[in-house]
Amino acid sequence: MFIDSHCHLDFPDLAHNLDVLLDKMRENQVTHALCVSVNLTDFPRVLALAQAHDNLFASVGVHPDYENQVEPDAHQLVQLADHPKVIAIGETGLDYYRLQGDLEWQRARFRQHIRAARQCNKPLIIHTRSAADDTLRIMREEGADQVGGVMHCFTESWEVAKRAIDMNFYISFSGIVTFKNAVALKDVAKKTPLNRMLIETDSPYLAPVPYRGKLNQPAFVLHVAEEIARLRAVNLNEIAAATTANFFRLFKLPTLVG
Ligand SMILES: [Zn+2]
Ligand SMILES: [Zn+2]
Repeated sequence: MFIDSHCHLDFPDLAHNLDVLLDKMRENQVTHALCVSVNLTDFPRVLALAQAHDNLFASVGVHPDYENQVEPDAHQLVQLADHPKVIAIGETGLDYYRLQGDLEWQRARFRQHIRAARQCNKPLIIHTRSAADDTLRIMREEGADQVGGVMHCFTESWEVAKRAIDMNFYISFSGIVTFKNAVALKDVAKKTPLNRMLIETDSPYLAPVPYRGKLNQPAFVLHVAEEIARLRAVNLNEIAAATTANFFRLFKLPTLVG
C-alpha cells in the first residue's frame, strides 16, 4: 500500500471530483492521504474532509506564498490543531522564488508555526524554495528538531537533505523525481535513507510522468514510488512498506490492521 503524504484535495479542481478520486486511490492501493492546509480561511474545508473520511488526515497552517493574510500566532495554530485528525502543523516555510522583496513576514510566520508545533507536539510540514539556508537556520534557531517533520516536495541538494535529516526530518519526494531533467533530485532519492523517506503528489500540481502536465491526484503517488524503486533498484513493495511505516511513525498514528 501507498500513502500520499501531501495533497490539496480541498482545492476546487479536486474537491468537485472527490468520489472519483477516492475510488482511484482504492484501485491503486493508495490507502491514505494527508490534506494539507494553506490558509486559515480554507482550513475548515480541509478538516471537514478528514472528518468525513477515515483515510484522510488534515494539517493546519498558512503557506509562505499566501500574502496579506491575518498572521496566525502560535496560540491560534495550537488551538486549531487540537483535533485527532489534525496530525501536523503546516504547510509552512520559506519561498524566495515566488515572492520577492522584504520577506521578513515569511520568516516571522515560519517561526510562529515552529513554536506552535513544539507547543502541541505535532510534526511540521515544511515548504522551502530558493531559501534553503534561511529555512535550515530558522529550524535550528527555533528548535524544530524537537518535533521533527517533513521537508515536502523536496527539490534541494543532498547536502540540504542531509542537514534536514540530521535535524530529525524526513524527505518527501513528489512527481518531480519522475521528470527526466531532475538528475540531481534522482540522486538525492537514491541517497536518502529508506527510513527517512516519504512520497507525495502535492496534487493538484506536479503530476508525475506519465501524466506530466495533467491534473494530479493522490492515486498517482504510485508512480513516484515506482520511480524511486527503479532508481534504487529495489522492489516496489520495499518502497511502499518503508514509506507507509515512516508516515505512521512520523505522524504518530496507530499502525493499521488489514
Ligand atoms: Zn509546498
Ligand atoms: Zn502543498
